[in-house]
Amino acid sequence: MITVIGLGFVGLTAALGFASKGFKVFGIDSDKNKTTLLKNKKIPFFEADMEEQLFYNLDKTFIINDNLKESVNNSKIIFLCVGTPCDDNGDVDLKYIYFAIDDILKYCDEYKVLVIKSTVPPSTTHSKIKKHIENKGFLIGKDIGLVCNPEFLREGTALDDFMNPDRIVIGVDPDDYKVIHWMQAVYKPFNAPLHIVSLNTAEFIKYLSNTMLATMISYANEMSMIADGIGGIDVRRAFNILHEDRRWFGQPAPMTKYVYPGCGFGGYCLPKDTQAMFNITKEKYLNPNSMLSATLAVNNLIKKHSTAKIWTFATDKNIRIGILGLSFKPNSDDVRDSPAAHIISGLLEKGYTNISAYDPLANHCFKQHYPRLTINYTDSLNDIMSVNDLIVIVTACNEFINIKKNKVMKNKHLIDLRYMNLSE
Ligand code: NAD
Repeated sequence: MITVIGLGFVGLTAALGFASKGFKVFGIDSDKNKTTLLKNKKIPFFEADMEEQLFYNLDKTFIINDNLKESVNNSKIIFLCVGTPCDDNGDVDLKYIYFAIDDILKYCDEYKVLVIKSTVPPSTTHSKIKKHIENKGFLIGKDIGLVCNPEFLREGTALDDFMNPDRIVIGVDPDDYKVIHWMQAVYKPFNAPLHIVSLNTAEFIKYLSNTMLATMISYANEMSMIADGIGGIDVRRAFNILHEDRRWFGQPAPMTKYVYPGCGFGGYCLPKDTQAMFNITKEKYLNPNSMLSATLAVNNLIKKHSTAKIWTFATDKNIRIGILGLSFKPNSDDVRDSPAAHIISGLLEKGYTNISAYDPLANHCFKQHYPRLTINYTDSLNDIMSVNDLIVIVTACNEFINIKKNKVMKNKHLIDLRYMNLSE
């Protein structure tokens, strides 16, 4: 049996979703007006197909229960779906989570799995909620299983999104692997990819998703304001034509390659065109604190950050460093403004002298384009791998995909700035 605390958009959807998969679900909400409405088979907001599901499941597999003790005693898994609004400073207010947890813990006489479905910022479950529970005398992993299970449903299609999830994310504490089988069991009927990750990662994935959506919306809005300011631009047509770019289509859409961390954009076009667009924005007295300026600033920052990662690791200046990839992107010999040039230059400036590099296509171009960067060039991946103490992947060339972190030879280290080889 499952208890769902908080019957708002997320909680009611989850409760009805689990109920329609045959689980017995207790639904609890502190808002009596809401529970009265629900008991009368009415839902307090518009959501397609929801009322039908409520009508079908209520008092069969879905019980609206005002008795928390009974619900908790009879449930193994308790989902927390209460609100997490921002306080006056913009920080997430966790009070509804803490109130609900305190109430639940009063009735936890045996092992229960507590699932945080509410959205909470990365590190909250581990550093705050876990502590809060432990301060009440409960041991995570022994008395309570603690899970972060962010929800990705969209209002308007909430039930359909919940019933047909594209992915399920389960964050768990490293000491608390007992909870995994409970979560696998509860989500088995949904037949979707289920990812077990750390608590922080699970929380981060939720924010990664929402902040990306927010950023894309603001990007589009900013560009429309710039277009209005410049004048003579048919904004609607421009965006429609943008959407014809074939990189939006396909599975996975090639556009996903642009939403991937690395060591910055380079090459001939993106740096100069972003700079030029920013400059015309300034020239026309449009918003100087634009996302375009942030885009350029982040691109400088990531190159410094990537170089600093190597400095931190390579404390000995005589360490032999092997750079993999010199072009600004794979399958290209274009080295103009390539992140590799910035990183190598940052290493040379810091006094590292033993740097060698290999690129399947761009060794020659790099040497010609950056004569002042005094490094050794090697002709094969094998040479780089055998000679150096520290290997750094800078460009995501296909040839580097098979380098596995745990297979890099003993006493050698790998820094994968393209996140190619650290995946699940
Ligand atoms: P909501 O405000 O619609 O629902 C929260 C419910 O919790 C309310 O009905 C409230 O009365 C109830 N509640 C609060 N404290 C309680 C307690 N101690 N005991 C019982 N009930 C209690 O919020 P929501 O939109 O469902 O969002 C819930 C969480 O899910 C938030 O963290 C939100 O950020 C996240 N989320 C929301 C969406 C969305 O589209 N709305 C999508 C994904 C994630």
